[in-house]
Amino acid sequence: MPAVLPEKKTEPHVETLLIVDDDPNIHPLIDLHLEGVVERILHADSARLGLQIARESRPDVVLLDIDMPQMDGYAVCRALKSDEDTQDSQILFLTAECEEHLIAKALDLGGADYVSKPFNVIVLQARVRSALRTKRLIDLLTKEARIDGLTGLPNRRVFEQTLARQCSEFRRQPENFAVAILDLDHFKAINDTFGHGVGDEVLRRVGKAIHDTQRAYELVCRIGGEEFAVLLRGVDAEGAVHAVDRILDAIRMVKVSARDQWVNVTASAGIANTSVGDTVVEATRVLKIADTALYSAKAGGRDRVVSGMVEKGPGQEP
Ligand code: GH3
Ligand code: MG
Ligand code: MG
Repeated sequence: MPAVLPEKKTEPHVETLLIVDDDPNIHPLIDLHLEGVVERILHADSARLGLQIARESRPDVVLLDIDMPQMDGYAVCRALKSDEDTQDSQILFLTAECEEHLIAKALDLGGADYVSKPFNVIVLQARVRSALRTKRLIDLLTKEARIDGLTGLPNRRVFEQTLARQCSEFRRQPENFAVAILDLDHFKAINDTFGHGVGDEVLRRVGKAIHDTQRAYELVCRIGGEEFAVLLRGVDAEGAVHAVDRILDAIRMVKVSARDQWVNVTASAGIANTSVGDTVVEATRVLKIADTALYSAKAGGRDRVVSGMVEKGPGQEP
């Protein structure tokens, strides 16, 4: 069954090629021959400028000259491949060399392919098309690896990465944030009574309900079976409780029809709040505080939120 969430509206991706070559004569030729093959072409006449443009624009394909002064194409390739932002760019080396061991070196460094200079236009175009196809597949797989198949929400991996980034950002430039972990109450009973298919539908509906209440400053993920996590940026403890209450309300409204009746569900939530001045803000600590607060919410009767401070430890029900 397809995930319920509609695609988020994002800017359409403009397929981009960056040509990095110190020979000024190459650039107009590339424009001429690759028009219509790729949507946008960017130019750099030095390795340094090439790296800068690549980091800013994340091109799908980089046509990379090997022989350049100061920094050669191999060094550029190494730099692109070691940077998370640019490592998926497909590198096509432009080479005057026909020595096999240099070509092998270019490919071993992570290059996708090479085109020899002076180039044959048909081969150049075909190699660029092939590199674009590979890049599209990589983008698709990357996207799939980040999305939970049942709910269409970002998955645990995305949550952990984002939280780790948020924690290191906090250490650099403190700004309050909070993490809430939500766990559906007595969910096993829904599976046991109505079957796993109904349980799945409840999870989908809950995922959609949380997603629909989501505001710009929140990230909502499904982090496990019937567990969801919300990252709230720029909120104080009171604001976080308010936001999570709103989410718990939305979950209470979910109803799935099964065997001529409505199936409802509630959730319990634990919040970990940071505040400016905290010295122990790291992901494992934040998650532990949220987990402990969630445990208190369950122990206190479920269908409620309990909030704790990362610095001081778990607190009481608000
Ligand atoms: P509590 O209120 O203490 O959280 O009770 P609970 O029943 O929600 O918690 P428990 O951990 O005992 O059970 C969770 C259940 O969630 C068990 C598991 O089979 C079910 N579950 C986990 N993932 C999925 C899923 O993807 N689909 C369905 N239908 N069920 C799932
Ligand atoms: Mg659970
Ligand atoms: Mg549960």
